[in-house]
Amino acid sequence: MGSVKEKTFKKLRRKKIWPSILFFVLFVIVCVVAITVFLQMFALYIMGTKVVHHFEEAQRVGKVIDALIDGGDTLHEAAYEMHKSILEDKEIYITDRDGNVVYHVGDSIPDFDRVLEFNIGTKFVAVADSGGCLAQTDRIGMIFCMPMEDVFRKVFVPGEKGENIGQWLGKTIVSQDYWLRTILEDREHAVYVKCNMQFKREDIVYVCIFGLIAFVLLLIPVILLLINTIVSIVTQRKMTRLFYLDPVTGGRNWLCFQNYAERILTKLMNNKKAFAVVNLHFERYQNYCACYGMKAGEGLLEAMDGFLNARIRKNEIFARHEGADFGLLLMCEGASEEERQKNCCKRMHSLLAELAGLKPEQKIHFHAGVHMIAPYISEENKWYQVRKGVNIDQLFAYANAARLQSNCAQGHRISFFDHEMLGKQMWERWVEDTMETALRNEEFKVYLQPKYSPVNNKLVGAEALVRWVSPEEGVIVPRRFIPIFESTGFITRLDDYMISHVAKLLAEWTIQGKKTVPVSINVSRAHFSQEGVAERICQLVDAYGPQHELIELEVTEGAFFDDKDILVETVKQLRSYGFGVSMDDFGAGYSSLNSLKDIPLDVLKLDGDFFRGDDDGRGQIIIKEAIRLARSLDMRVVAEGIEKKEQVEFLAGQGCDMIQGFYFSEPMPVTEFEEKVEKDA
Ligand code: C2E
Ligand code: MG
Ligand code: MG
Repeated sequence: MGSVKEKTFKKLRRKKIWPSILFFVLFVIVCVVAITVFLQMFALYIMGTKVVHHFEEAQRVGKVIDALIDGGDTLHEAAYEMHKSILEDKEIYITDRDGNVVYHVGDSIPDFDRVLEFNIGTKFVAVADSGGCLAQTDRIGMIFCMPMEDVFRKVFVPGEKGENIGQWLGKTIVSQDYWLRTILEDREHAVYVKCNMQFKREDIVYVCIFGLIAFVLLLIPVILLLINTIVSIVTQRKMTRLFYLDPVTGGRNWLCFQNYAERILTKLMNNKKAFAVVNLHFERYQNYCACYGMKAGEGLLEAMDGFLNARIRKNEIFARHEGADFGLLLMCEGASEEERQKNCCKRMHSLLAELAGLKPEQKIHFHAGVHMIAPYISEENKWYQVRKGVNIDQLFAYANAARLQSNCAQGHRISFFDHEMLGKQMWERWVEDTMETALRNEEFKVYLQPKYSPVNNKLVGAEALVRWVSPEEGVIVPRRFIPIFESTGFITRLDDYMISHVAKLLAEWTIQGKKTVPVSINVSRAHFSQEGVAERICQLVDAYGPQHELIELEVTEGAFFDDKDILVETVKQLRSYGFGVSMDDFGAGYSSLNSLKDIPLDVLKLDGDFFRGDDDGRGQIIIKEAIRLARSLDMRVVAEGIEKKEQVEFLAGQGCDMIQGFYFSEPMPVTEFEEKVEKDA
């Protein structure tokens, strides 16, 4: 995870959606607040315009009474005087500080339980009339004295016959009495003047039109923003789908798998669960495509995707990795590791069998590598912790390694990853990474294992065996790196290196006048698939100039199964140059007597395995006959891996020419060998 593609995708996702959504939400909030505030203010404004002249009148009444009191009248006289002269048709109500009535003209009285104060520049105190309805709980209701729907019902009744629009608009639809308060200068008495508030139809129609315009004006940007946000979401979803789309199967792609698998594994509630990362491989897919066509191959991958999609459970995911490889993240039930592995194996077996059934008329095989992920438990075993830093690609690589590890058997195979396997893979990696440098630094050393004559126990030859003396790992024996060199093709470079070093050594011995014995060198089968091998070997040797007869080339038995014509040609050529050629490890694996018939060889090396384990006499018969056969074919015989005296005696009795084994000596460094030659040759 964390590829450039992934990062770009994440950035794009984050960028596109959130600003639009945030902006939209903020704008909607602002609009709602603005409309609410606006309506409140408008309500107050209407109220204010309707009330303000009544309030002025009430204040004027207060001032007249104050003036009369100042002129020497009592409150009662002043009120009477004022009422008679300027407020004949008005009802007034005067109270003292304690609310006791001191003067009252009219039929109705204020209802002091329903007082309403409001401020629009000036502070008004309005009191409901005992028969009216002012001072409802909400302002709108208070103004109109009825629920809004009733107001609208009243407003929007059609005009009467003969009524023009002006008359229709001018009709009063709400009329209510209320009292306005003014305080006298003595601050002891309050004067309440009864007023009547009226709303005409036009008041409400204008408010509605005004409100509607404001609403529409605000609605347009809201709609535009909403469209923009929806478009962003749709685009982003399309983009996600595109990013997560596998072009072959039409299902999820690897990026999607990486993202979701890691999310599933690191989810808190999933930590108690065990999972399996599976590498599902369609065997010989290329061959399938070659036979049935690319389209059919891709069609099958698509069908596999559909099938897996139907089999996958909640909290599981899969996707095509590349080629005909699928990655799966499956949940595994079971109390123990063993049980989980068993269950997973069972499920995988049925999955693979069903997958093979996708094309019953064609034989298709699958192979799965599995890496198990145990529940994540803290050391104290108390807490379940979050799996952190899961690297799904690494886990998939482990599953892949498990699959590659066992590609011997046929049919559907399921292999589980273990750490020994990982160690092996790490070793292979290390070897591949360091072999070039090691060759350059001459870390490969020639060891020599003497060959003895069983007749006189004299040292008559040697086999050159490589040892890798690594500064990091110490002395490494060939079986740990030769197979890796063989699989990478590097073995030919090592063989050339060994041929050159042995040739140099033999030339030095000759020049220095030391005792010299023939040395055999192992040549890998990889060499024999190349044209002109004999010439190359000859050139390598001639660079130092030892006698060709001192060099024998050991060809492993496996090489005899390769292109026989090239092999026969090469062997003949090598012999014509004067080199000896031997068949190494005869009797190991699948020996072919046939190869002895066609290839003219000098030496037959009997494999050490002939001499291992209990021998009930049959082994001896075979060895005896093998030696007789070799001699009849005019070949010398070397017995390898000889560790016991009886074996030496038996071989001597059978006419074996040379013996190589720990009984006489183990492989040793050159200087040690030189001393041994001086003594034993
Ligand atoms: P090989 O060519 O058959 O070499 C004989 C192996 O048997 C050597 O193992 C040797 O140490 C071992 N051996 C000898 N006597 C005894 C004995 O009495 N008992 C037992 N148990 N083993 C004995 P080594 O050196 O580990 O080499 C293993 C194989 O690696 C060789 O088998 C050869 O196939 C390959 N090899 C070694 N050096 C080279 C090389 O320079 N080039 C190539 N291509 N292959 C090499
Ligand atoms: Mg050998
Ligand atoms: Mg051998």
